[in-house]
Amino acid sequence: MKNEFEIAVFEGDGIGPEIMAPTVQILNALQKRHQAYSLNFTYCDAGAMHFSKTGQSLPESSLETARKSDAILLSAMGMPDIRYEDGTEISPQIELRKELNLFAGVRPVTLYPGQNTPLKIPEGKTIDFVLIRESTEGLFWSQGKGEVSKDQASETLVITREVSEKLFKFSFKLAQQRKSSGEGRGVVTCVDKANVFRAFAFFREIFDEQAKAFPDIQKEYAYVDATALWMVQKPWDFDVLVTENMFGDILSDLGAGLMGGLGLAPSADIGLQHALFQPCHGSAPDIAGKGVANPFAMILSSAMMLEWLGHENNNSDLLKDGKNLKQAVGHVIQNKKGLTRDIGGEAGTKEAASAILKQLAD
Ligand code: NAD
Ligand code: MN
Repeated sequence: MKNEFEIAVFEGDGIGPEIMAPTVQILNALQKRHQAYSLNFTYCDAGAMHFSKTGQSLPESSLETARKSDAILLSAMGMPDIRYEDGTEISPQIELRKELNLFAGVRPVTLYPGQNTPLKIPEGKTIDFVLIRESTEGLFWSQGKGEVSKDQASETLVITREVSEKLFKFSFKLAQQRKSSGEGRGVVTCVDKANVFRAFAFFREIFDEQAKAFPDIQKEYAYVDATALWMVQKPWDFDVLVTENMFGDILSDLGAGLMGGLGLAPSADIGLQHALFQPCHGSAPDIAGKGVANPFAMILSSAMMLEWLGHENNNSDLLKDGKNLKQAVGHVIQNKKGLTRDIGGEAGTKEAASAILKQLAD
């Protein structure tokens, strides 16, 4: 059983280093306690501040470290005022996604007891589903390739068999994992617009083909517009949702809204060879340097990393610690002590992280 892992760490910009420091501290506390696995952290330069100092957003050496690592932790990158000459922002997090073929954007939408949500949740129901956003093609294939004339503009949506097969296989496997750990019911819903577009009928055909290899998992279909409605009206019915890039982009923000905002929304970008874990939020320049950033989305992303490494390497210690870490965040939310301002508390970043460490030690 493999139990030594290289972790590439991108601290990034703005609040990035402030939320990465306690996350690495917590991971170190976990590995020290059990001594059942070791995580070796290598810090990598990249981001808007690095660009303003050196003219490089993602140095080749950092990309190389990421490529060689077993997993990548990233906080957030980009600063609104630091831009390339063409006016677009420095965003190595998107370059990494493309360079490393991270086709599955995994966005868990989870409501811990006591967590703020704009919804009224009926007795006995809870929100706990995972949205999988294809992250390398779909409408984003067109990025930088759109055609504009005086009278017309067009962008092209591309869905390939190769990526769709990987995407659905990944989704069904995740549903199996969730079913066996009791987190999910074993249902995958293909979210598309197959009633109108041939490309989505193709997407759905590949979904059906892949489903055949997973007879223990139920397959369902939903149109993307209805999915937006149901995410508000009955989100407790969902287990694993899988969708195209642009649809997933929009639905994931709706998902973060259900969780009461970005401060508790983790994510993972996963490919066949590499995986990157980062919070859904950005570098929050408005609060950077003040010590008030919420570290929980980063910490929850690192818990996803432990679980992913555990599954990939059949390492039960990592699986257990990933679960423990998620539960520790859940308990702190429920007890309402150690919460930062964005989620209704008064704690600073350090106090919030201490609350997690204390919960893990109890
Ligand atoms: P943002 O997520 O950084 O901030 C939006 C709002 O949420 C702000 O008011 C911010 O203070 C608050 N917020 C975000 N994270 C928080 C946290 N952990 N604790 C407390 N409050 C938090 O989005 P933005 O302002 O649109 O973008 C800022 C910069 O981040 C931009 O340069 C953008 O390009 C970049 N960005 C990067 C990523 C990424 O690295 N994946 C994602 C989104 C935005
Ligand atoms: Mn988005």
